Amino acid sequence: MDNMKITKVGSRGTLFTFDDLGIPTNVYVINGTHHIFIIDTYLGPTVMNQINQYIEEKLPKKPWIIINSHSHWDHVWGNSLYSSSLIIAHEKCKELMQKEGLRDLERFKEYQKGEVVLTYPNLTFTDKIAFEEDQILIYHTPGHTEDEISVLDLKDKVLFVGDNLERPIPFIMARDLKQYIDTLEDYLKVDAEIIIGGHTDMENKGLIEDNLRYLEKVITEDYLGYEVGEYKEYHQTNMKWLEENK
Ligand SMILES: [Zn+2]
Repeated sequence: MDNMKITKVGSRGTLFTFDDLGIPTNVYVINGTHHIFIIDTYLGPTVMNQINQYIEEKLPKKPWIIINSHSHWDHVWGNSLYSSSLIIAHEKCKELMQKEGLRDLERFKEYQKGEVVLTYPNLTFTDKIAFEEDQILIYHTPGHTEDEISVLDLKDKVLFVGDNLERPIPFIMARDLKQYIDTLEDYLKVDAEIIIGGHTDMENKGLIEDNLRYLEKVITEDYLGYEVGEYKEYHQTNMKWLEENK
């Protein structure tokens, strides 16, 4: 398992981090009261089987619930392993997968781990789903994409935010920047101490503030400071996307 970094988080979280895409990519597992929650399924069945094996060996036997943070291929390709479990996502996530999933599978197939069989979420929602006894809240947080959802572990105060939070600046793939800003401002009010993104480390609210500052600059078209250094490449990618998706 040398391609997989395992980090214990709080009293009941385990963060699995992979590096096949040139950036770290996370799968987050929460050992809840009644369920094991598996957030995101990365690039396919062979890598997810390593996580399954870990769960089977180290965690108590409980039903598994899968959550897709959003529809992008690097977060959903392992879904086929879990078709007999609940796979929860926003309703727009399923729609986007149905619309763009096969195209993305064709386009990025060199990255698949094992044979990817596109598998859609089988329980979708629009606003939120609470697993009260597990102290887990899953809720809609549009930002990076329209379908993005977040998972709050109320017991450990850990918030998983999918790709809404990035290092060093956000990766814009939705036009509604006001909505993205609202989501990030809302994160600042959440009672959470550890924030984890789809491609970040274990973070604190400082990174949310940094991401917020950037989006506010983009809205006012004042890019001072972001056209250089570590920001340059990411900023240019965002500008290109916004230009092409006016
Ligand atoms: Zn991603």
